Amino acid sequence: MSKPTIATGHFTGCFGCHMSLLDIDERILQLTELVEFDKSPINDKKRFDRMVDIGLIEGGCSNDENVEFLQMFRDNCKTLVAVGACALTGGVPAMRNTVPLRECLEEAFLSGPSVVDGIIPNDPDLPVLLDRVYPAHEVVKIDYFLPGCPPSADAIWAAVVALLEGREPTLDYELLKYD
Ligand code: SF4
Repeated sequence: MSKPTIATGHFTGCFGCHMSLLDIDERILQLTELVEFDKSPINDKKRFDRMVDIGLIEGGCSNDENVEFLQMFRDNCKTLVAVGACALTGGVPAMRNTVPLRECLEEAFLSGPSVVDGIIPNDPDLPVLLDRVYPAHEVVKIDYFLPGCPPSADAIWAAVVALLEGREPTLDYELLKYD
């Protein structure tokens, strides 16, 4: 019988949630027994080969590429889980939401204290920044939310195992406290 499949995706975040997934340590061997990884930075697989059972996504949407990529995940994942504060709320990158985009660009590329002869990048190959950083659920339907910055390895493990066993993921308080 074929194994369930998992994909993971990274949007506007710091990769800390993926690092937390890898922090499951030796359970990663168990995970590779339980599932087959499809598209993921973990195996550097760039494209979906099929509809996967579980998608784990990290990060918010700050540009048009993020939106396209997230929609591709939604289209290719039966169950889509937003992992971490950036995916749930926009997180740290969403701090720019309090400042108009034009002002952010001017501060970064024109008037910052270390800028000399600055120019705002405008190469057509660059992703186009959105007016603000959007949490994943404002772009596509999200089935489950796993909070934390990052969620602990144990929390990610508990959620993934529950989904693989066909159970609703419910996390104990111990897995959701952040002190
Ligand atoms: S939630 Fe935290 S750890 Fe995860 S991508 Fe965002 S900043 Fe990094």
